[in-house]
Parts: sequence; C-alpha cells; structure tokens
Amino acid sequence: FNNELQRSEKMEIISELAASVAHEVRNPLQVTRGFLQLLVEKQQQADKVYLSMALEELDRASGIITDFLTFAKPEGGKITELNVLDEFIHIEGILVPLANLQGGKITTHIPKDLYVRGNSSKFKQAFINIIKNSIEALRGEGDIQIWGYEKDGHVVIHIKDNGEGMDDEVLARLGEPYFSNKTKGTGLGLMVTFRIIEVMDGEINFKSKKGAGTEAIIQFPSAN
Ligand code: ADP
Ligand code: MG
Repeated sequence: FNNELQRSEKMEIISELAASVAHEVRNPLQVTRGFLQLLVEKQQQADKVYLSMALEELDRASGIITDFLTFAKPEGGKITELNVLDEFIHIEGILVPLANLQGGKITTHIPKDLYVRGNSSKFKQAFINIIKNSIEALRGEGDIQIWGYEKDGHVVIHIKDNGEGMDDEVLARLGEPYFSNKTKGTGLGLMVTFRIIEVMDGEINFKSKKGAGTEAIIQFPSAN
C-alpha cells in the first residue's frame, strides 16, 4: 500500500512537470511558426521548400507536446455529456480530407442517440489517433468503416480498415511509448488514446491480420 501511494504521488509530480514544460515550450513554437508563415508568403520558390520543411517540423513538435500534455492530464478540461455523432462529424471534418488526399475512403454510420461522458477534445483526440493510423495503413486505396451502437448499457464504436494489418508481435506492443514502425512516427498516438479511454472508464481492443486489415473496438459506459 505504501509503495502504491508513493508511486501515485510520483506520477502526479511527473504529470505536473510535463504539463508545465509543455505549456512553456508551446508559446515560443507558436511565435516561431507565425514568423515563418510570414516569410513563406514573401519568399521565392527555392526558399519555400526550406520554410515549409521548418513549418512541418514545428507542427510535428507541437503535436508531440499535445500528446504529452494529454497523457499527463487525460481528464483535463470540461467533462460533459457528449453526443457521439456530433463528435464524429467534427472528427470527419478533420480526417476525410486527409484520407481523400491519400486515396482512402471513410464511411461512418452512427445513430443520433448515443451519449458518453467525457471531455470533447480528448474524446476527439483519442479517435483521431486511431483513425489516422488506419489512414496511414491504407497506403493509397482502401477504405475505413466506422460504426456505432448501444449494447448492454455501453456505447460501442468500431473502426475497421482494410490496410496493411499487423502481426501478433506488433499487436501486443500497441500503446507502448515510442513504439512505432513508421519513418515519421512518434509512437505516442495510441499511448495517449489508451490513456484517454482508460480515464473515461472505457475499453479498447484490436483485431488485426497482416495483409488484411485492422479493427479497433472501443466501448464506454453509456451516458443516457
Ligand atoms: P505512430 O503512428 O506514431 O507509429 P501509434 O502509437 O499511433 O504510433 O501506433 C503504433 C504502431 O502501431 C504503428 O507504427 C503501426 O505499426 C501500428 N498500428 C496502429 N494502428 C494500425 C493500423 N490500423 N494498421 C496497421 N498498423 C497499425
Ligand atoms: Mg499514430
């Protein structure tokens, strides 16, 4: 019991520290981004390549900060009753253009009357991380199917892709910090997603087959 207490105190200190570092670093990043953006608008073609690379790296850095911040404070922000369909309309607004850009298709079937309790931006972040992985797994053509329903007092959501799939070894390591098989991956996406789902009293399970595709099944206690 004593050890447990010490561990949770330690976790709390680390969380506070991570959150404040993230806040401090985010501001200068945003200022730098603003100046670079101004330069992009004024520059000749050749310099634009370097500038857009710099912007891309800055966005990547701020993405990592967001992930750490969320990991440190997964229940941060306002907790309300979330309409699952409304949340997914926003998620689609962000991800459909990205999927289309890569030749993928997203189909969503979610009824209007599903509700869960949680923080809206955390909820979205959890699903954006899952669906982004699906988009990246498509490697060009393919589709992602998303559907949801209520069952035994739970809201269940499925995300299924016909992308590259995973073998058991990869499957077992999902959510491990820094575990990534991508050249530009951070290996933080699912770590954050698992944490958000955990604090919402939810559960996530993956089924996958190498070469065939992946299905994530997520469930939360129903809020209505
Ligand atoms: P990252 O995307 O930065 O690599 P994630 O935590 O989001 O980190 O994912 C970790 C790894 O899990 C990925 O690199 C990939 O190998 C595997 N993965 C996750 N989702 C899928 C999926 N839908 N299809 C195939 N592989 C996946
Ligand atoms: Mg990812």
